[in-house]
Amino acid sequence: MDNIVETDGALILGAGIAGLFTALKLAPMPSIVLAGTRPGISGSSAWAQGGIAAAMGEGDSWQNHARDTVTAGAGLCDPAIVELVAREAPERIHDLLALGTPFDRKADGTLALGREAAHSLPRIVHVRGDGAGAAISATLAARAGETDCITLLEGFHAVELAMEGGRVTGIFARSGLGSDARLVLFKARAVILATGGLGALYAVTTNPLEARGEGLGMAARAGAVIADPEFVQFHPTAIAVGRDPAPLATEALRGEGAVLVNGRGERFMTAVHRDAELAPRDIVARAIHRQIVSGQKVFLDCREAVGAEFSQRFPTVFGACTTAGIDPATQPIPVAPAAHYHMGGIASDAYGRSSLPGLWVVGECAATGLHGANRLASNSLLEGLVFGARVAEDVRDSLIMGAMRGAPPAPPRFASPAPPHVLRNAMSRYVALERDADGLRAALATIARLERASSEPALQNMIATVKLVTAAALARTESRGGHWRSDYPGSAPVARRTLITLAEAERIAAGQRETPARRARK
Ligand SMILES: Cc1cc2nc3c(=O)[nH]c(=O)nc-3n(C[C@H](O)[C@H](O)[C@H](O)COP(=O)(O)OP(=O)(O)OC[C@H]3O[C@@H](n4cnc5c(N)ncnc54)[C@H](O)[C@@H]3O)c2cc1C
Repeated sequence: MDNIVETDGALILGAGIAGLFTALKLAPMPSIVLAGTRPGISGSSAWAQGGIAAAMGEGDSWQNHARDTVTAGAGLCDPAIVELVAREAPERIHDLLALGTPFDRKADGTLALGREAAHSLPRIVHVRGDGAGAAISATLAARAGETDCITLLEGFHAVELAMEGGRVTGIFARSGLGSDARLVLFKARAVILATGGLGALYAVTTNPLEARGEGLGMAARAGAVIADPEFVQFHPTAIAVGRDPAPLATEALRGEGAVLVNGRGERFMTAVHRDAELAPRDIVARAIHRQIVSGQKVFLDCREAVGAEFSQRFPTVFGACTTAGIDPATQPIPVAPAAHYHMGGIASDAYGRSSLPGLWVVGECAATGLHGANRLASNSLLEGLVFGARVAEDVRDSLIMGAMRGAPPAPPRFASPAPPHVLRNAMSRYVALERDADGLRAALATIARLERASSEPALQNMIATVKLVTAAALARTESRGGHWRSDYPGSAPVARRTLITLAEAERIAAGQRETPARRARK
């Protein structure tokens, strides 16, 4: 062990929106925010385009927002969680305004609200059209940087949770490479994971390459219960220009009236769903996937809906297109689905408590029950804010109860992480938009081979995560929301959430059992 750092307050792993907002809400309680990359540009948060959903417009209500969320969630949302998120959403937007977030406004000074797929009304607050994530991340990082009780530490790669007597007491993280590498144990009275999603475990993704499900894997390896891991959302309109990660063409473009056409110029979504391009994401993504599998290219045609105003109204997408030699004002944008968001995660209650004492979870790495089988657009930044405030409240209350005791446990072994190309390809091929038992078993075989070949802790964390996703997908013999089984195309009469541990996923992977032992009734 090179170093031990201890705080009387909280340790937050992750400096995306969820981690930074939690730290700000915890203040004046001290916190250390640990991240791989620089706060302000860290994680998926800084890449978010559309904005945040909140019922703040005339004629809208938290009930409407809740109804849309539940409809998109295909029977798996937890209604109590949906209600509290929809109710608390406007207050969290006011928090962001108070912190200095420059949300777009109309001429009369009220917030400008955009519309996105499967929302019955315009309710997305945004910044400079498609720059919400960058602006909010920069604002939160600036405020956290000015707050004395928050210590921001970048350049640390966490590899394992530290446990004492069944309680999470810290995180082992490494910094530096090769002979300069050192391992540090961060100890805290409360440990909060805000480590984001897992999109980069797929070969085709819109997520930054740091979104590798490592926080989920760490928690699973420590014995945490994981909820709904099989539910991965594929964004329908990643820009298909061969870049890794794939740039995103925000859903707000379809909200503005952009249409999807195939290589023959045919608009195919009208035949698939009554809401056409604004149908829930899984439906649009699968329709595009099927066009592509049948040999068609697919394009997002924004010429009529946005046209010459493209560069002002959607500067991020405009930049991504022009870098690839496409002028979206005059040319259709080639698009394809890409792994985008993880609905599943570390099982959490209404205050972000995981099943492990001492461990709270917030943001995309958590599964609160908000998203069900399919996330409603722009509900994820919101979830990070609502649960960031709730986790902070709960941690403040719990820490009054006493200090941690005991000696730190032994450090994990570590070396440089192997690039998971084989893993990413297997996930994109077998555990993506259309799954079947043969493909899922093939993915589990690849995962097992990789596992046998490496004891590297970061890779073990990623392997734990993909094993959970794949085993739970194999065990769910139905199609629902983001999880589509071509060998089980119908939905089961009763919707049940998956609650599963790594040990149970391992038994499924080993073929000993076909269903997780514990499935909660809705
Ligand atoms: C292109 C794109 C557009 C999107 N648009 C929207 C949108 O418009 N609206 C919306 O609601 N959602 C959107 N999303 C989803 C949303 O951005 C994410 O769900 C959300 O930002 C997740 O926030 P987070 O704080 O939980 O995680 P992240 O922002 O991903 O942050 C994760 C943090 O954990 C750190 N970390 C992870 N593992 C480790 C480790 N082992 N060691 C050290 N640090 C680690 C990372 O460095 C990072 O700091 C979009 C996502 C993408 C990719």
